[in-house]
Amino acid sequence: MKRAIALLLLSVGGCAHSATVPPPARAPDPEQTGGQLVADLLMGAHGPVQRPALVKYVGAVGARVARASGRPQGWQFRVTDDPTPGAHSLPGGTVLVSRGALLQLDSEAELAAVLAHEIAHGVMGHTLLAKTAVPEHGSEGTSRAAAVDADEERQADALAVRAVERAGYAPAAVGRALSALSRGVIHQCHARGARSDCDTARDEDDPHPSMPARLARVALLAGPGGGEIGRTRYLEQIQGLALGGAEATVQSGRFHSVGGLSFAIPPGFAPALSGNVLNAKALDAELSIVRLSGALLRDATRAALCSAPYVAREAGGRRALIGTLGGDDAQRVALVDDRASVHVVAVSGPSRDLVLDRVLESVRRIDSGAGPRLAIVRAPKRMRFTDFLRERCPGTDPALARSLNGLDDGAVVEPDHPLKCATK
Ligand SMILES: [Zn+2]
Repeated sequence: MKRAIALLLLSVGGCAHSATVPPPARAPDPEQTGGQLVADLLMGAHGPVQRPALVKYVGAVGARVARASGRPQGWQFRVTDDPTPGAHSLPGGTVLVSRGALLQLDSEAELAAVLAHEIAHGVMGHTLLAKTAVPEHGSEGTSRAAAVDADEERQADALAVRAVERAGYAPAAVGRALSALSRGVIHQCHARGARSDCDTARDEDDPHPSMPARLARVALLAGPGGGEIGRTRYLEQIQGLALGGAEATVQSGRFHSVGGLSFAIPPGFAPALSGNVLNAKALDAELSIVRLSGALLRDATRAALCSAPYVAREAGGRRALIGTLGGDDAQRVALVDDRASVHVVAVSGPSRDLVLDRVLESVRRIDSGAGPRLAIVRAPKRMRFTDFLRERCPGTDPALARSLNGLDDGAVVEPDHPLKCATK
């Protein structure tokens, strides 16, 4: 995907005079613009979570922690629809937290801890792209090139403990949040089934100190101090969030994108998924489909088409613009537009017009909200977690439930204690 995006942005440079991209009213702050751009790139693959109340809640917790971090102003908190647990701190004060992270966390104090860690990176000027996370098995690894080093991670953890405490939350939440995110990443690694070393493998480029060392250090810093936890209200906020489901898939000859659209893969093309990007190769042709969102990317993709006249048509009830990328006639490109995102469909090869036509004719809308969602369920009595799952959450994948709740089968659940299950 990075290559496709780089290509688009390069093409924009080639036609900055285009009427499709109005010049900014005043010179933008380069750091701010950079952060915004990266935020849009990261958002682009998954889009924002469409839950205004939840986004507002995350912003309020972030603002409370920011006040305790020594830099109260200038932050923006965004929730991406990325199912992988993680958070990013971007230049210009944008903090991104993923839906996957929110699902794993168990209290407002833990959310505060994750945001405090990212705010700390921002306050100390660490970012280009700092991450809260944990070993990143198989995920895109966007941050690798600009990885912060282990020292900066230790500093961010230490500042997070202090800010969380000063904001009135229980400082032990920092360690619990780290464990929760790590558990989620490991669960997803196992769920993909491809690797047997999910529990021990570490990315060589991962800047974060090893998780046990990190947890031990954070526990020492946090001490036994009490404070607010905010478990019930946090769980109420995240109830109903989609569980997984936002990964693109290839099924029965179709590419189901994360943006609620599906495309037929023409006969003769061998599809390969890289993250949420489809690449499909035939003997003398290549097809790729990527979904981008955010105003900047929309402008970028439109501008990419500036050097050729483009044709408008309809595809699956959406508007599609067909042209070339930066005037390169070897590739035919269609932008399938809707309010939240743009799907870029690019085809190269001698029969590019025909192939593109077939793909656009095949566009269908899919109901992305149909998958399982997070339900909060209370135990009727004191019982073992495994019995709770059988009686109260039938149909929930036990491994997912263990990861979401941080409990193993033998754990004892207290009566009326709220726990996470999947709907249906
Ligand atoms: Zn970090």
